[in-house]
Amino acid sequence: MPDRVVDLHTHSLASDGTDSPAALVRKAAAKGLAAIALTDHDSMDGLDEAAAEAVRSGIAFVRGIELAVQDGPAELHILGLFMPQPSERMRAALEILRQSRRVRNQAMLDMLAALGMPMSMAEVRAHSGKGAVGRPHIALAMKSRGYVPSRKDAFARYIGWKGAAFVPRTLFSPAEGIRLLRDEGATVVLAHPCLSANMTASRLDGILAKFRGYGLQALEAYHSAHDPEAVRLCVELARKHSLLLTGGSDYHGANKEGVELGSGAGRLRVPYALLEKLREFRGRDAPKAL
Ligand code: AMP
Ligand code: ZN
Ligand code: FE
Ligand code: FE
Repeated sequence: MPDRVVDLHTHSLASDGTDSPAALVRKAAAKGLAAIALTDHDSMDGLDEAAAEAVRSGIAFVRGIELAVQDGPAELHILGLFMPQPSERMRAALEILRQSRRVRNQAMLDMLAALGMPMSMAEVRAHSGKGAVGRPHIALAMKSRGYVPSRKDAFARYIGWKGAAFVPRTLFSPAEGIRLLRDEGATVVLAHPCLSANMTASRLDGILAKFRGYGLQALEAYHSAHDPEAVRLCVELARKHSLLLTGGSDYHGANKEGVELGSGAGRLRVPYALLEKLREFRGRDAPKAL
């Protein structure tokens, strides 16, 4: 079947998506996708449920995670694909991230209250699932209180990078994040490098040279926010730095309008062959896992 497609970047209720892990997998199967990876932010809580549903639905499943890392002033995202069950060290790392989210979320709520927009943490949690809680959930709570007309407005005025109630959170460095995932046995991917408007070819070239040294193995060339030029740049630089290619929609359900499973913003098409290449590479490089 030559045109089978996959989606190797999605989010569920275990972070800031709106579908349960099982519903997400059923949706992917109903769309005829050959495989799906679940890559929730800072959370592996949805993976077992999704994996069990994938067996029932007859679709290949890749256990994943997405972590943010701090590269100087910039936040970049990495994906771990083919994650095994979390080690004790991984569990501890996820707990550190969760704790830092709690502290940061409370600090943002304090600042919003000082700006005349009081909300409780319970209210914010009511807009999240049971995994990682973050700004998208604060934005939803603000909207339902009527403090902002839209989630977009919440980010633009208050909780986005330049917003009045923005509080940064402590992130792993790229070396730490990549090492953590590699030590688990994952295949490590730089996610959506061209999502940020100020990414340039020479900057990405430098990032890839550096991250390759830390253990990066693949580049997410295909993504809902990548235009054809971004895809071309990624493919070229992946070749230059001997990185594998991956792709995914970054589907968040109703929390990200205009992004569908598999097809992304409309023109995404990630061929099954990319997943086969990743597996082939793992067979050579990491015979222990999958
Ligand atoms: P957090 O992990 O709590 O820092 O929240 C980051 C998430 O917020 C991202 O993964 C996006 O889903 C969302 N986000 C960040 N900036 C914006 C924005 N300007 N508009 C809408 N959503 C955003
Ligand atoms: Zn997200
Ligand atoms: Fe991301
Ligand atoms: Fe994502």
